[in-house]
Amino acid sequence: MRLIDSHCHFDSDAFAPDREAVFARARAAGVERIISPATTAASWPRLIAVREAYPGVLPAFGLHPMFMAAHHSSHLDALEKRLSEQRPVAVGECGLDFQIDDPDREAQEALFHAQLALAARFDLPVIVHARKSVERVWLMLREFPTLRGVMHSYSGSLDQAQRFVERGFMLGFGGPVTWTRAKRLHRLVAALPLEAILLETDAPDQPGEQHRGERNEPAWLPEVAGAVAALKQLPVETVAETTTANARKLFRL
Ligand SMILES: [Zn+2]
Repeated sequence: MRLIDSHCHFDSDAFAPDREAVFARARAAGVERIISPATTAASWPRLIAVREAYPGVLPAFGLHPMFMAAHHSSHLDALEKRLSEQRPVAVGECGLDFQIDDPDREAQEALFHAQLALAARFDLPVIVHARKSVERVWLMLREFPTLRGVMHSYSGSLDQAQRFVERGFMLGFGGPVTWTRAKRLHRLVAALPLEAILLETDAPDQPGEQHRGERNEPAWLPEVAGAVAALKQLPVETVAETTTANARKLFRL
């Protein structure tokens, strides 16, 4: 089984003690590519370092909405320079997080808009983080009709999901689909076309049901594939093949 982890923070400090072993276990589990999105500008050099040390780890560059205090307006110019010089696989992680305490919506939207414009200009997909903001993201994307991307760890409604799929977006699903109690998410995955689904771990965060309280890691991606296969009543090989093809298409691998 060959899989692509479409969202794993492989550069995270959580992996500092044993990154080599985490990578080896991922490879042994069939995870052949790991898309590693950025959080802050400070993470970009670290992402370049992991890309060089670990073949198949592919960074995206962006400014994450949960770290607004770390961002500076000059980082957008720096991002533009990185995109033109280093051609990452995507712009991200970017988006809107209205679930955090006292979100500065205006500042988040301005930063997200600027990154959408950069992604459109450089013809790169966007990796979108959207919490309590799916509809707002949808409206902001209307200005960029040709832009493609993925709604990572998707948590909106089925109706919203179908609109994203119609405009060519993919939806990323990870550990939460393995939770027995996640009934709404299960119905959503069962109803969506497999051609619109990407598998992800979001490691070191969002571990699946078998690993509650543990540090998540990319080697556990087959558990996500298994859960999606069970929900769609398909062989896990079909889920692996199709979602890998989906990731290759979106990120042009
Ligand atoms: Zn993330």
